[in-house]
Amino acid sequence: MKKPVITGWACAVLFTMVCCSTAYALGFPETVSGAMKTLAVSKEDPGLLLMTNAPYVRIGSQGALPYLDQAQELTGCRVGRGNLLFFQRPQAHPLRLMLFKKAGGDAVIISQEGESWLSKTLNLSETAISAPSFWKTVPQKFKAGADMSTLAVIANVWAKGGPYDFLKSAEFHNHICPGLISGYMMAHYILTRYPLKEGERYTVVACPVWCKEDALQVILDCTAGKKGLVVKHLSKEQADKISVANPAGFLLVWNEQKKTGKGMALSFDFNRLNALSPEGMPKSVTVLAALEHLDKPDQFVSVSSEFDLNEKRYNDMIEAGSNPYEIAGLLKK
Ligand SMILES: [Zn+2]
Repeated sequence: MKKPVITGWACAVLFTMVCCSTAYALGFPETVSGAMKTLAVSKEDPGLLLMTNAPYVRIGSQGALPYLDQAQELTGCRVGRGNLLFFQRPQAHPLRLMLFKKAGGDAVIISQEGESWLSKTLNLSETAISAPSFWKTVPQKFKAGADMSTLAVIANVWAKGGPYDFLKSAEFHNHICPGLISGYMMAHYILTRYPLKEGERYTVVACPVWCKEDALQVILDCTAGKKGLVVKHLSKEQADKISVANPAGFLLVWNEQKKTGKGMALSFDFNRLNALSPEGMPKSVTVLAALEHLDKPDQFVSVSSEFDLNEKRYNDMIEAGSNPYEIAGLLKK
């Protein structure tokens, strides 16, 4: 009689597993529908934003795309409509979605919590997130706290009509900060001032390195893997020796066939960016204040030196072990 007992026990375990996983799957659409009810929005509402890390994270050995599919279906939010945004996270990060209502800034953040879904409602309006007290208390109170800055700032940039290529940079960088803004402005400065002619390509020498690199990669398609971005960290001692103000790296415009090109040392003025908002305010205030200046990169970006490139100088600039400021003659004597 022992065998049937074991079989019965195994069946019970199997039954429980099936029930739980069914409940898990069924619980998700109800949670999303509940969030829509809470926000008083209906499907296809253009004032509704859906944000999620679903394309990046995994649940056990599975991708999270089926949840994204269900959320799209229920909310009507679509990439092509500009109201479905993603943010990159490591694969082991919890699956998270946020429904955000443009009018009033109310939001419901849905987090995967074991085998159920945790729903939290809060206000993420520009007024709410501009208060220093918000950042001192709210992220610590919520399970989704680690993603709070990502969700709150990107949603408000979307609500204020931030450009889509800026939001795509934010997806890759996974948040918006003053550093990403500097990269966005540098990318557009480059596209306007140094448009590529036939046979030319951009190489960005990231030196010093900061968040800007991620916007440059997205907007210029200068990815590190395609050798469009060469990353060179500077020691404090090396940085102190640079002779130009506000150094932000180099743009190289290179024609591989003709073996000629031009190099530009770029500068970015963070003092001007920071002056757009009162001192001591949260970074989100600086970001939102900078939005109406995104199309005026000339006010923040400048070229401190321009020089010709031949093959040797081009290779010297990008190869390991060289200091590009030394090669460009931009070190203090
Ligand atoms: Zn950043």
